[in-house]
Amino acid sequence: RCFCLKVSLKKNLCLIATVGAVILGTGLGALVREYGFLSQVQKYYFGFPGELLMRMLKLIVLPLIISSIITGVAALNSDMSGRIGLRVVTYYLSTTVIAVFLGIVLVVAAKPGVSQGAERTDWNGTTQDISTLDAMLDLLRNMIPENLVQACFEQYKTQRKERTPLSAPDYNSTHTPVPVVITTLSPQNITKDYIVVGSYSDGINVLGLIVFCLVFGLAIGQMGAKGRILVEFFDALNEATMKIVQIIMWYMPIGILFLIAARILEVQDWRIFQKLGIFIVTVLSGLAIHCIILLPLLYLAVVRKNPFAFVWRMAEALATAFVLSSSSATLPMTLQCAEENNGIDKRITRFMLPVGATINMDGTALYEGVAAIFVAQLNNYALNIGQIVTISITATMGSIGAAGIPSAGAVTTVLVLTAVGLPVHDIPLLIAVDWLLDRFRTMVNVLGDAFGAGIVQKLSEKELEQTVTVCELDAASSL
Ligand code: ASP
Repeated sequence: RCFCLKVSLKKNLCLIATVGAVILGTGLGALVREYGFLSQVQKYYFGFPGELLMRMLKLIVLPLIISSIITGVAALNSDMSGRIGLRVVTYYLSTTVIAVFLGIVLVVAAKPGVSQGAERTDWNGTTQDISTLDAMLDLLRNMIPENLVQACFEQYKTQRKERTPLSAPDYNSTHTPVPVVITTLSPQNITKDYIVVGSYSDGINVLGLIVFCLVFGLAIGQMGAKGRILVEFFDALNEATMKIVQIIMWYMPIGILFLIAARILEVQDWRIFQKLGIFIVTVLSGLAIHCIILLPLLYLAVVRKNPFAFVWRMAEALATAFVLSSSSATLPMTLQCAEENNGIDKRITRFMLPVGATINMDGTALYEGVAAIFVAQLNNYALNIGQIVTISITATMGSIGAAGIPSAGAVTTVLVLTAVGLPVHDIPLLIAVDWLLDRFRTMVNVLGDAFGAGIVQKLSEKELEQTVTVCELDAASSL
């Protein structure tokens, strides 16, 4: 009992410190901002401990995703993974669609964009005008990376470039032309003003890695004794990574405190929040209804346990999501809280949570639906039912395609807008408040994944009993 007490004290200490860091960091940021006792240079260094935390989490996320998905899938036998996989997909899709629907109902009722007087800043052209088809093709391209090593640091991205007139080269010019790779040069890709070019952008191609790891895990899981050595290797890698995560968790409160304080110092103009007040309240109410009422009800109906106790045990992951605005960077904490605090089976968490961090984003989907209709209201566009359905479909797709990184959802909103022909010049307005909304929707994204793992575990109890547990695997590998 004494040991248990110590363990729970240790767990709670870390949790209280993390949550406390968010509150303290907000206070510290506000204080320093108000009294301005830091110079511009000092402010820059102020965020350094937070930057270190971000670096640690980004560092660990790649080995974590790879090892956890491979061991998670390999530990399930193939027809079991099929059945569980179906439940996972059903949960992910249905909750995302519910979230979009909820968002649309709220924004249509609250009408935040109707004669609201929000000033529109001019579109600065940072996001390209990409068609829905291009975006869908990019999603598929990223699922099948042509080079696994490249997938660890780059992802495919279609860009529209302005078409340059075909004139004779100007040999007197000192300007060095930038080489552009034109991947698919067909007549359809050359429109009046643009040519579509394919390029790679920074950032891990998580989707591609996930697909590969799922298939690889399935393959080695079926190889019997021959595949055993690989399963054990990835299992050991996973254990080692999780041990590093535990170390990072102790640094977490310090990093979080400075990250949030530095962010508050950076905010330029608080008045924008007044202008976009109803929009912000609509998004936040939708997120709150989804994660305080709908998801807990679903959990209660299936698992028959207290959903709020479940949420409390995820608090560290939620605080991390709030501060980092990134489901991927929060993944180490999500896994830790789901496995250690909520006791969810590792075979479920190991493949469900990394996949969920990338494709299951209820908060993002809800936000995109609300944002698109808000833009329509701002521009006096009357949307018909067909367009609203298109918005729900593209918002679902956009949330699947959005990476688990800060503000990815605001960028994929462009896809939703262009799908129904809405102008994109209001995107900067959305971006101006996104640093705040992103935090809340990332929390909902993370919570949606965690609830999903709990629900799928409950529904798969029978299947899980039939195979070896990961603990048994761990024990075998330590022999
Ligand atoms: N930041 C969100 C996440 O990582 C994605 C988004 O921008 O909506 O889950």
